[in-house]
Amino acid sequence: MAVPFYDHAKLYRARKREIDTAIQRVLESGRLDWGDEVPAFEQEFAAWNGASHAVTVGSGTAALKIALLALGIGPGDEVITVSNTDIASSSAIRLTGATVVWVDVEPESRTMDVNALEGAITPRTRAIMPVDLFGHPARLHEIRAIADRHGLAIVEDACIALGATIAGQKVGTIADITCFSFAPTKHLGAYGSAGACLTENADLAERLRKISGYGQTRSRHRAIHAGGIPQGLHHETDGTNERLDEVQAAILRVKLNDLDDTLAARRAQARRYADGLQGSLVDVPKVADHVEHAWRNYVVEVSDRDAVRQRLADAGIGTSLSYAPPMHVQPVYADMGLKPGTFPVTERSCSRLIGLPIGPHLDLEQIDEVARVLRESARA
Ligand SMILES: *Cc1c(COP(=O)(O)O)cnc(C)c1O
Repeated sequence: MAVPFYDHAKLYRARKREIDTAIQRVLESGRLDWGDEVPAFEQEFAAWNGASHAVTVGSGTAALKIALLALGIGPGDEVITVSNTDIASSSAIRLTGATVVWVDVEPESRTMDVNALEGAITPRTRAIMPVDLFGHPARLHEIRAIADRHGLAIVEDACIALGATIAGQKVGTIADITCFSFAPTKHLGAYGSAGACLTENADLAERLRKISGYGQTRSRHRAIHAGGIPQGLHHETDGTNERLDEVQAAILRVKLNDLDDTLAARRAQARRYADGLQGSLVDVPKVADHVEHAWRNYVVEVSDRDAVRQRLADAGIGTSLSYAPPMHVQPVYADMGLKPGTFPVTERSCSRLIGLPIGPHLDLEQIDEVARVLRESARA
């Protein structure tokens, strides 16, 4: 039984009629830019999360970078994040001109170690960028308290934690700006690149909109495209073009209807893995008290990682190495001079992790099969 890591075509076929209708609606409207789909999706996405403002952007990477720019972060500033994640977090910080400062993670949740965070704060620190790794939220309330005590902003990388909760509250309203990715492989996958920021602060929302949309208000752009005599340019900030497009927004509006079901499917699969791997030599992911995991990734740890991955591959089972090796040992960051051994918890996890297939393209029998092969592979 082959178990693919992803299967976008299968998920498309399951919703083909609705998706095709949505795409055609946009194409036939002729409004490929500054139409109604993006604002409608922003409203629906904010409502789903219980947040006040959603600003869509072109990717999760863009969400992180625009969030930092909206907070005015740049050269001379330090932003604290973790190393066991996508390059997007570290790159977003450096591309603003600020300095990235990594701290180690906690062994169980593999998210930011709050004691290490406190120790890394300097007079130059401006913001904290926790990552809700694999769908497990960081200790956001403790990080919020530290940030408030030191006057720092929080830009949360929730790109793989859509729908995760702490004490029943969804991520998205705790940080100053919470960033999401709608890359095809994420919980809510577009058919291309897409992302969003959530914030409770109306001024920040407006800054996010302007910076991601050519430095003008979106209402001005919409008015220009609505017909009549176009207004002249009015740029209030520097701007980039990092927007969600109308076709992707229309697709995401269809897929948002399935998000609760797909989260439930992921949670059922994670329970099945935990049952199937109980008592084995495989370390299964742990979930903190009061946390509901969003299970974008089901990442186990084993001692003989590469051999185990090979055995899974031989059995037709797809795996991933998200995210390893960690950022502080990547060639691009060699200028920072951080040697292996700097972040022992991060490095141990990154050297042992294997991402297993999970998601709505799979059924529970496939999960059982992966667990069975993995149990046997990790026996030695
Ligand atoms: C996917 C991802 C990103 C980047 O999102 P894109 O939409 O691919 O740019 C950032 N952070 C994490 C943790 C991610 O998994």
